[in-house]
Amino acid sequence: LVVLKGVNKHFGELHVLQDINLSIDKGEVVVVIGPSGSGKSTLCRTINRLETFETGSITIDGAPLPEEGKELAKLRADVGMVFQSFNLFAHKTILDNVTLGPIKARKIPKAQAEKRAMELLERVGVAHQAQKFPAQLSGGQQQRVAIARSLAMDPKVMLFDEPTSALDPEMITEVLDVMVSLAKEGMTMVVVTHEMGFARKAANRVVFMADGQIVEENDPEGFFTAPKSDRAKDFLGKIL
Ligand code: ATP
Ligand code: MG
Repeated sequence: LVVLKGVNKHFGELHVLQDINLSIDKGEVVVVIGPSGSGKSTLCRTINRLETFETGSITIDGAPLPEEGKELAKLRADVGMVFQSFNLFAHKTILDNVTLGPIKARKIPKAQAEKRAMELLERVGVAHQAQKFPAQLSGGQQQRVAIARSLAMDPKVMLFDEPTSALDPEMITEVLDVMVSLAKEGMTMVVVTHEMGFARKAANRVVFMADGQIVEENDPEGFFTAPKSDRAKDFLGKIL
């Protein structure tokens, strides 16, 4: 579904993505893990074309990432992204946050968008908060709204960049539970996280990045119990 071939990107002198080859099948859940500054967020942002790249190719369903215009707007809808900070529109209600994209980008009639939004809010457990504003919700609740907002666009793939790292411990589980259920339902997902419980429960594959490179890939059990590279061993030694 998502295929990166020989992708290279620099930030000035910094070679932030070095010859990245990664192929994500439909329904696959790939966890990306690695030290701070290794390029995990840049990788996600590049797939969503929030960042450009210099050489190589990225295709989604066989089509290269569009450069601009309507096609780019469609890409942003097809590739959902959930960030560490929830990025909800502060001055809009929860319901409006979820319906805005479908109404504007997908041209869905308001009533239909609201019906679907309520179903999604129900699914992530915050339907009763629909008329509130983001600041009135807990971090975990806001992050679940952010997930519902992405889902409302019917994305082909969802990118999560450390979705629980800004949350208090007691709220992490409620967000991870939503992600696990999405994974079980067959959503294609790329998840940057250090939550090993999630990786073990939901990931088909763990990709370990360091210094802009994919250093190793394995199934979660294999990666966590028997990392091959010294970089991965060293990293796991620090987070476990
Ligand atoms: P973390 O675990 O801390 O989130 P990361 O693996 O997500 O790290 P990135 O955010 O992708 O790392 O950053 C990779 C490198 O690129 C870092 O050295 C960072 O300082 C640099 N970088 C990121 N964004 C930019 C930018 N817009 N301009 C210049 N350098 C950047
Ligand atoms: Mg990051």
